[in-house]
Amino acid sequence: MGIFSGIKDLLGQINRIDGAVYTSGRDFADVYARNIALEEEIAVRTKELEQANQTILTLNSVWDMMNSSQPLSSLLDKIVSILHDDMSYVYTAILKLNQEENGSEYFSIMSSSEDKLVNSIFSIINETAQTYKIPYVTNSIIEKSLHEGQICSTPDMKGVLNMFFPALNDEQLKDFVSQMITKSAIFVPLKRDKTNYGCVVITSTREITSDTELNFLSLFANQIELAITVAGLFEEVKNQAITDPLTGIYNRRYFEENIVKEAERALRLKQPFSLISMDLDYLKRINDTYGHQFGDLAIKTISNILKKEARSIDIPARIGGEEFNLLLPGVDSNGAYIAAERIRKSIESQVLDTIGTITASIGVATFLEHSDRIDELTELADQAMYKAKLNGRNQVQLAVGHESVNWQKLAVEAFTDILNQKRIPVDEKIAKEIIGKLHHIKVEEQSSKDILYSIVDMISQTYNQAYKTGTTKSKLFLAVMLAQRLEMSKEDIDKLKLAILLYDIGNVMIPEEIYNKKGPLNDHEKEIMRQHPIIAAREILQPITDIQDIIPIIEAHHENWDGKGYPNQKAGVEIPIMSQIVLLVDAFYAMTQDRPYRNAYTLDEALKNIKEDSGKKWNEKLVDEFIYIVKNGMMR
Ligand code: GH3
Ligand code: MG
Repeated sequence: MGIFSGIKDLLGQINRIDGAVYTSGRDFADVYARNIALEEEIAVRTKELEQANQTILTLNSVWDMMNSSQPLSSLLDKIVSILHDDMSYVYTAILKLNQEENGSEYFSIMSSSEDKLVNSIFSIINETAQTYKIPYVTNSIIEKSLHEGQICSTPDMKGVLNMFFPALNDEQLKDFVSQMITKSAIFVPLKRDKTNYGCVVITSTREITSDTELNFLSLFANQIELAITVAGLFEEVKNQAITDPLTGIYNRRYFEENIVKEAERALRLKQPFSLISMDLDYLKRINDTYGHQFGDLAIKTISNILKKEARSIDIPARIGGEEFNLLLPGVDSNGAYIAAERIRKSIESQVLDTIGTITASIGVATFLEHSDRIDELTELADQAMYKAKLNGRNQVQLAVGHESVNWQKLAVEAFTDILNQKRIPVDEKIAKEIIGKLHHIKVEEQSSKDILYSIVDMISQTYNQAYKTGTTKSKLFLAVMLAQRLEMSKEDIDKLKLAILLYDIGNVMIPEEIYNKKGPLNDHEKEIMRQHPIIAAREILQPITDIQDIIPIIEAHHENWDGKGYPNQKAGVEIPIMSQIVLLVDAFYAMTQDRPYRNAYTLDEALKNIKEDSGKKWNEKLVDEFIYIVKNGMMR
């Protein structure tokens, strides 16, 4: 508007002068000279107007770019090309201010115009524009420009060159300056979110930068800043996206955020969650044989199956190219294994266009079961998946927690020793069968636990015909759940597991006729029933070096909270918590099984009995947790 009204004003002046020629008859030559001067001014103003138009056009194109949601780098390239090609500056570069880890600052070149001279400097100093670090020199013109937020220009090209390329010696500097057609360098500071982003460096053939040019550059800088901000925001928004564009399932970032939240929740509520990790089999072959679009089809098919099989609270995610995860809150390893197997079957049963069928290898790991750390859990799920690949693909493998190997290994060693050394009087045939089973155990396999439980079931059945197969597994499960609710450490829970497997071993030493006596026991028999198993357990287990810390747990597993138990009448916290758990678990399963002198209690009767003795036989807190577990249907 200023320019338009300026021109109008000038035209008005000319008209008035012309009028004066006719009306006052002044000297024609005089008027002519003044007219020329005024016309020259009009020419200058018109040029300014043109430039202003050019500015508006240029700013418009920057604005268009911003709206086109391009990545920042191509935006900056366009800005450089506008300055270089359209505005005819010799060399243009956009520099970004960066910080080294040690705090020192430098500029990197985000985008620059092609320039032979600059290229030859880079080749001399053996650097590239992409990786070169321009030092941020204190008291330099560039620092002044950034510090004051002002466009600065200088005709000292040698100084500028020296600042940018301190590796050049004086002679080289002089040589390059002599080849230059530029007469000045202009530094335009750029800010993003009120902090220094960097600057635009422009070299010009004019020594002096006119006010109009400065005005234009500062307007232009505003637009660049806006573009940088918008592009930055755009990238942030893109980063915040939670789904994978090809498949529409969650992306890695979302998955990683949520597994952290899930782990926190699982630890707080002592409830597991499972991680299913899977990888498409032979995708490379599909790509190579049928083309990438069919590889993509295979990936989309797997994603769709995951989406379909997942419950609303599950999180299916594409973690990498052909790698998928499914997080199952509240699901233990058994449940997750079943889910994984269902997914595997669903994948192999689909017939895809051109490719035919595809398969996937799947690993399953459960939080609180295999590990209580996220990094370890993902690692274990990956290892299980890898094992599925090695075993021939198209299968599900369950993870083996590092810690579970240990307690199982100790248990296998203990039972092997007990039977080989004939530390317990069991039938030859049964002993052989058990030793055979022990030989077959591979502790890194999931099935090994079940074999161990079945061995304990078998030993228990040698003296107690009512002992139901499967009871040991249930006992262990209940004990672990109680321990978890009491927030016991992993290490202690492992000890507890071993104790559950071994605490009853002394019973094999009780004479048959006493253990299975139908009528009431006399005092002597009662004493044998009470003391003997404990003494026997100690004797049986003592020689086995690696399980020494289990013995005190077993020895105290008949002590009562009120001090009326045996053998040492310990009370309250004197009794190891693991012994308290063993006592409660043992009593509960004894109540719910038939005895020679009584029938099994119902669950409600057993619960009533246990409640009645809360604070007497057992720790009240433990009973509360036990009731919670039963009430919430968490028992198997
Ligand atoms: P394996 O059964 O051992 O997993 O064999 P594989 O061929 O699936 O595995 P490999 O790791 O050898 O190759 C993975 C291939 O997946 C290579 C990679 O180009 C391809 N891939 C990764 N992401 C994509 C994608 O998004 N689309 C397509 N079509 N292929 C992809
Ligand atoms: Mg693969």
